[in-house]
Amino acid sequence: MNNFDFQNPTRILFGEGTLAKLGQEAAAYGSKVLLMYGGGSIKRTGLYDNVTAQLRERGIEVFEVGGVEPNPRLSTVRKAIEISRANGVQFILAVGGGSAIDAAKAVAIGVPYEGDVWDFFVQKAQAKSALPLGTVLTLSATGTEMNGNTVITNWEENLKKGYGSLHAYPKFSILDPTLTYTVPADQTMNGTVDMMTHVFEQYFSLTPDTPLQERMCESVLQTVIENAESALANPEDYVARANLMLCGTYALNGGFISVGMRGDWASHGIEHEVSGIYDIPHGTGLAIIYPNWMKYVYRERIERFAQYAVRVWKVNPDGKTDEEVALAGIQATRDFFTRIGAPSKLSEVGVGDEKIDVMAAEAVRFGPIGSFKKLNKDDVAEIYRMSL
Ligand code: NAP
Ligand code: FE
Repeated sequence: MNNFDFQNPTRILFGEGTLAKLGQEAAAYGSKVLLMYGGGSIKRTGLYDNVTAQLRERGIEVFEVGGVEPNPRLSTVRKAIEISRANGVQFILAVGGGSAIDAAKAVAIGVPYEGDVWDFFVQKAQAKSALPLGTVLTLSATGTEMNGNTVITNWEENLKKGYGSLHAYPKFSILDPTLTYTVPADQTMNGTVDMMTHVFEQYFSLTPDTPLQERMCESVLQTVIENAESALANPEDYVARANLMLCGTYALNGGFISVGMRGDWASHGIEHEVSGIYDIPHGTGLAIIYPNWMKYVYRERIERFAQYAVRVWKVNPDGKTDEEVALAGIQATRDFFTRIGAPSKLSEVGVGDEKIDVMAAEAVRFGPIGSFKKLNKDDVAEIYRMSL
């Protein structure tokens, strides 16, 4: 295990009914709030009315930027920064999934920064401060509700880039699983794939001697697998929705499940290039790419893949080589993604081979990616080709 320095400053209010605490929490951060939300699901579900009523009851003046796109766009972030500056906004509140929250994080770090917020995403600047941010999560997926990451799409340049900072952690996040009852099946699938992939990105690591971290990762994976199909079969299954919500948060909250382990993260970079150009959901892209990444790299540490197969998928290792066990685990992953409704080929989501070169070059813009196996442009292009 490597040395580590772990801090997670986000307060989590978890469970049915916790939404009622929003007004009280928000009031601690000022009297002018910028409310950010997505394309309208919160209006259809009544959540918008509940949130704005709680804010107004506390005398909080509400400015808003709705219509945050899935794969949130830089243009929306810039507009929200302008509105915040012009009105002296003191607090940012995101209500929605990863897209609304990531956009709000970019606004929170962008408002006090004198340059252009995109500088953070192209490694030109580091955030030194932020406006306080609170979130109400409506979709279990990204973990953004308890981490310092934000992923933004520069649509004009077809670039999707991530940035992470301790300043971008939410002050608090309200996680009420009943708010995810209305999440449609395809987004439940996308979220399930995303949270599993977050665990994979940490678990498939070359760092030695990390038994606790490996078991924590395996526990999150098993819990996701046990609950995803129940949530799909019965969207109002509280237990399934609550377990998925907690798993999504644990899967990526600053590395709690993988302290002292070096993560890989190549597949996220590989996927971002696809959704940056073709605007497909992140989870859908990962469901296609990740099993191919696994096939491309598993020989770097076959025992970890064999352990994954045995512990998570209960593959019986008797009479099999480690390689056979490892491959059975990869196949079980693919089969599970298919079972919950994910596509397995880029061609199924309208992505052909025409941009493979451009995407591969952009994925390695800042050098080779990944640490389980370092990937250069040719490796990335090969993984895209395997995914066609
Ligand atoms: P999302 O893009 O926030 O939302 C996807 C869709 O689900 C939207 O159409 C949204 O509708 C709908 N939706 C959300 N909650 C709903 C509800 N309760 N009922 C009905 N519909 C609902 O999805 P996401 O997967 O959470 O976020 C994806 C983004 O996060 C991607 O850009 C991805 O790259 C990024 N990401 C970030 C991190 C991180 O750590 N920061 C990690 C992984 C991925 P409305 O727009 O109408 O609300
Ligand atoms: Fe992700």
